[in-house]
Amino acid sequence: MNSAPSHYSDLLETLKTYFPSPVSNPIMDGYFVHSVSCFLDRVDALKSAAPVLGSKREADYAAHRTLVMPDDMASVESINAMLADYCRGMTVWSHPNAQANVIPPPTISSITAYIAAALYNPNIIWDEYSARFAEAEVEAVAMLASLVGYDPAEAGGVFTFGGTGTILYGVKLALEKLTGGQAMKRGVRQEYKIVASGASHYARLNVAGWLGLGSDNLITVPSTSRNDISLPALEATLRGLYERDETVLAIILTLGTTDAFGIDDLAAVADLRERLVAEYRPPFPPYLHADAVIGWPWLVFQDYDFDANPLGFHDRTLRALRDTLERMRPLFLADSLGMDFHKTGYAPYVSSLFLIKRRADLALLSRDPAAMPYLYQFGHYRPGLFTLECSRSGAGALAALANLKLLGKQGYQVILGHSVEMSECLREHLESLTCAKVLNADNLGPVTLFRLYPDGVDAAAAYRRECADPDYRPELERYNLYNRRIFDWTHAQAMRGEGVLLSWTDAYRPAADGKTPIAALKSFVMSPWTDRAAMETVVRQVLEARARIETESARP
Ligand SMILES: *Cc1c(COP(=O)(O)O)cnc(C)c1O
Repeated sequence: MNSAPSHYSDLLETLKTYFPSPVSNPIMDGYFVHSVSCFLDRVDALKSAAPVLGSKREADYAAHRTLVMPDDMASVESINAMLADYCRGMTVWSHPNAQANVIPPPTISSITAYIAAALYNPNIIWDEYSARFAEAEVEAVAMLASLVGYDPAEAGGVFTFGGTGTILYGVKLALEKLTGGQAMKRGVRQEYKIVASGASHYARLNVAGWLGLGSDNLITVPSTSRNDISLPALEATLRGLYERDETVLAIILTLGTTDAFGIDDLAAVADLRERLVAEYRPPFPPYLHADAVIGWPWLVFQDYDFDANPLGFHDRTLRALRDTLERMRPLFLADSLGMDFHKTGYAPYVSSLFLIKRRADLALLSRDPAAMPYLYQFGHYRPGLFTLECSRSGAGALAALANLKLLGKQGYQVILGHSVEMSECLREHLESLTCAKVLNADNLGPVTLFRLYPDGVDAAAAYRRECADPDYRPELERYNLYNRRIFDWTHAQAMRGEGVLLSWTDAYRPAADGKTPIAALKSFVMSPWTDRAAMETVVRQVLEARARIETESARP
């Protein structure tokens, strides 16, 4: 503003219009609704046939880094336009042609829960600051504990900052159980080993590093071609550790790996733990944390009548759902587990639940109330006594509860069943092509990883050699590039609104030499709008891209 300086009290009147009115005020309430509605209109204008809002442009981060804070106040209208502009280039996750990753379109109810939390700003540190948002957390925990098969009278849990946070809570609890709460006071005084599979999420490295256990103490066990932890390798690893008198703190199992939807055999590992504990009698039986952040919703099929198949899934889908469920059922054997709603739970970021079999164990994380004199003078629900977070938004818990009630078991059965059905449709297509190979053929979720091979190469035979023959490395590297070119071409096409937005993984798994990564094209179906036509488009466009590459390389 260049005009003469105003008295602050005048500016304060303007400033008040920046906030929703504290008391009912039809004019100001209308202004708020109008602002949100204008924002939605502006974003809506960015929608097109492509699965992105507006066009994507290169960011000029160098210019952005020179910005300084403005001197004057602006208007809600101008910031509204700016906010809509910042949505440009975002993928529309609900678009039938968005198959990029495990990123869901959030439901209207879960979005409304976030709006509720944004408006009234609950902090579930304490029910005094979160009122019924605290109840929502307790209710969501109860529903999920019963879904898992934990005793609801004993189980507990808290929403936290992502799947990484759920693993952090699990391993931290293991550490406090092992040390009788001493690690909290005296720090980590000894080497403790954590065991997980090579297909588990890299969050394990953060957890080991940030908890001070050291990522060198993380032992990675190979996974099988089904992307689950190799049981013989796990047994050999654990025996080796016990024979060297090492302390095994925790085993992290993954039920639904990020890239391929591999599912560790939790029942077999729980059984192995029991056998080895009986044999070696370690002072501490290793803690079992299940990273089920992606896989947990498949538990809704526990009540599905697979014989009558009332929802009418195809045979192939039905088998996939049933086999997945069998691997998810033993989740109740884990000491704790992680469940993300911002993945296969269809809520906005971030909504993750750390669920624990025995709520009483959480007391090991408690601080002395005397250390927090400004809190907890009254009220009944005080998770802030033990949570890592001080400020902990109520949004995640309410959004989770909203989706659990909105969708129910039936809704999750429909949306997950549909995603798997679409993925099976793609697999069936790809399997009929001699130039294509589905890499995670034995995994049964909504994600398909595949590779294409040049003319004259038998895809199945080539892939077998990539996995088994270290001398095949030059071909493997060439085929990695070949697939990358296919991906780039389809990506550009999708951005023009002419195809499906796929994803790419640089390293699906290591090849025969144990080092060189096998790259893959990836389709992850999340949207309820994705249909058979979209899956046929995937096949058509990758074949088209491949044909172009073949023509180009045939030219002299
Ligand atoms: C995404 C993911 C994580 C990490 O969760 P964030 O919410 O991204 O922190 C952990 N484990 C698995 C299997 C995941 O897919």
